[in-house]
Amino acid sequence: MAQYPQSPTMGQMMDRPLLISSIIEHADRYFGSNEIVSRRVEGDIHRYTYRDCHKRARQLANALAGLGVKMGERVGTIAWNGYRHMEAYYAISGSGAVLHTINPRLHPEQVAYIANHAEDQYILFDMTFLPLVEAFASHCNTVKGFILMGDRDRMPATTTIPNLMCYEDLIAANSAEFEWPLFDENAASSLCYTSGTTGNPKGALYSHRSTVLHSYASAMPDSLNVSARDTVLPVVPMFHVNAWGLPYSVPLTGAKMVFPGPALDGKSIYDLFEAEQVTFSAGVPTVWLGLLTYMAQNELKFSSFKRTVIGGSACPPAMMRAFRQQHGVEVVHAWGMTEMSPLGTCGTLQTKHLGLSEEGQMAVLAKQGHAIFGVDMKIVDDAGVELPWDGSTYGNLLVRGPWIISSYFKNEGGDVLVDGWFPTGDVATIDADGYMQITDRSKDVIKSGGEWIGTIDLENIAMAHPAVLQAACIGVFHPKWDERPLLLVVKKTGADVTKEALLAFYEGKIAKWWTPDDIAFIDALPVGATGKILKNKLREQFKDHVLPTA
Ligand code: AMP
Repeated sequence: MAQYPQSPTMGQMMDRPLLISSIIEHADRYFGSNEIVSRRVEGDIHRYTYRDCHKRARQLANALAGLGVKMGERVGTIAWNGYRHMEAYYAISGSGAVLHTINPRLHPEQVAYIANHAEDQYILFDMTFLPLVEAFASHCNTVKGFILMGDRDRMPATTTIPNLMCYEDLIAANSAEFEWPLFDENAASSLCYTSGTTGNPKGALYSHRSTVLHSYASAMPDSLNVSARDTVLPVVPMFHVNAWGLPYSVPLTGAKMVFPGPALDGKSIYDLFEAEQVTFSAGVPTVWLGLLTYMAQNELKFSSFKRTVIGGSACPPAMMRAFRQQHGVEVVHAWGMTEMSPLGTCGTLQTKHLGLSEEGQMAVLAKQGHAIFGVDMKIVDDAGVELPWDGSTYGNLLVRGPWIISSYFKNEGGDVLVDGWFPTGDVATIDADGYMQITDRSKDVIKSGGEWIGTIDLENIAMAHPAVLQAACIGVFHPKWDERPLLLVVKKTGADVTKEALLAFYEGKIAKWWTPDDIAFIDALPVGATGKILKNKLREQFKDHVLPTA
C-alpha cells in the first residue's frame, strides 16, 4: 500500500470523536418516542422509549461515577437481552468505562476466570443468574460489588454475595443530569471473551471508533438493512459479541427494538414476533430451528416478519428454503466472529443475479457472502501464498479492517496478526464476484488420505433430507485414510430414515469419496455457550467408533 506523504494537506472537517454515547443521544433527539419493548425476567412485558432509555442510562452513569468507576475500568454484565442491559451498555461505555459482557452459559469457574482476567470492578446481573453469581462471587478478586438488575422487592433476603446492591435503587437515587464525556474515539468501549473451546478464553477489546464504524456498516442495505421503519428483535444475545452490534445499529437508525429476555423457545419468540409486529431479526441456526419446528407443528404463518440474518454457524440451505419458500422471509447469511465485532460478510444478491432462477439465486445466497465495506479478506495456503478467487480453491481465510482485533486483551497469545492480517481459523473459497463460502473451521476439516473434506457441505446435504432435524459430521480414525467422515444425525420427531437411505441421498450430490463412511443416529447434539454444535465433544464421544470396512 502507498505510504502517506510527509506533510499531507489536512481536511478541514470537525474532529468530532466517534463515541458510543452519541448513538443514544441521537436516538433520544431524533427518535425519542420510538419504543423499546422487553420481555422481562419478571415475566411481564415492559415498554418505554429511547428517551426513557437515555434518561435511565444517564442516571446509571451517575450511579457508576458515585461508586468510583473510572475511565477504562471494566464493569461486567451477566444479563439477557432487555432494556436494563441496554441502559448498562450506554451508561458504562458512554461514561468511558468498559462494558464487559459475560456469557452466563459458561461454567462458574470460567466466569470467575474471565471476571478476574478482566479485573471487573462491579458486576450487574439479571435475577435469573443469582445462583450463578452466588457460585462464583467469592472467587472474584477485583469486584467491589454486585448489582442485581431488578426492584427492591426482588432482592434476596439472605445471600452470600458480597456488597449486593439493587439496580432500581441506584437509578432512583441518581439524577439524569449527566454530560457524556468527550474523549479519544480509540478508547476501549467493551470487552467480549471468545468461546474458548480449547484453552482459556481470550478477550476482544472493542473501541468506540470500531463500534461506531461497525454500526454504520452493519446497518447498510446489503448488510443487516435496518431502518426507522423496522421493528427489530435481536435473538442473538447481548452477552455474546454485543448481539452482533444491534444494540448500537438499531437506535442509530431509530427502529423499534424488541428484546426477548430469557424466553428463546419457538413459541415465545413466535408470540413476541406477532404481538410486536417484528419485521427483522438475527440469530444462530439452532434458535431458528426451534422456531420453524414450532411453526410447522402448529401450522403457523408470520404476519409481519420479512427478513432475518442467520450466522454464527453455517445456515443450512434447507433452513433458508423453509424461510424463503414457506414463509416469504428473506434470509441473509452472515459470517463473522468475536474478533471481528462480529460482522465480516453478508450474502445478498446483485442486479445481475435478479434474473436467475430460484435455485440459481439460492446458490448465491447459500454462501456466506461478500465483505461489507471496511472488511477486506483473502485466502492463503499453509505457506501464506494467496490463492485464486475461483469459487473452488479453498484456503485459510484472513481478514483486516477497522473493527477487527489487532491483539487480544492484555496481549494474551502474543502477536496474532500475519503481515497485518488476522487469521480467522476458518477455511473458505472466494468466487470471482468476491462471495466467500466457509468450507469448515480448520480444526473441524476431515483429513482423508492427505486430502481435505469440508464437513459443512456434508451436513447441509443431510439436513435437506425430510427426516433429518440436525446433522453434524466429524472425522474419526481410519487405519488406511487417517480420518474418514462419520455423520451424526438427530431425526425429526415422528420421522424415520435408515442409514442406507440417507447414504443413498448423497449420490450425485457430492464427490463419491466425500460420502460419510458411517452414520450414527443420536437423540441430541451437544450445543455450546454460543449456540454452536460442540464438535470437540462429539469427537471425544465417538473417538473409539469403528467404521464399517468397505
Ligand atoms: P464466535 O467468535 O463465537 O462468534 O465464532 C466465530 C466462528 O463461528 C467463525 O470463525 C466461524 O467458524 C463460525 N461462523 C460464524 N458464522 C458462520 C457462518 N455463517 N457459516 C459458517 N461458520 C460460521
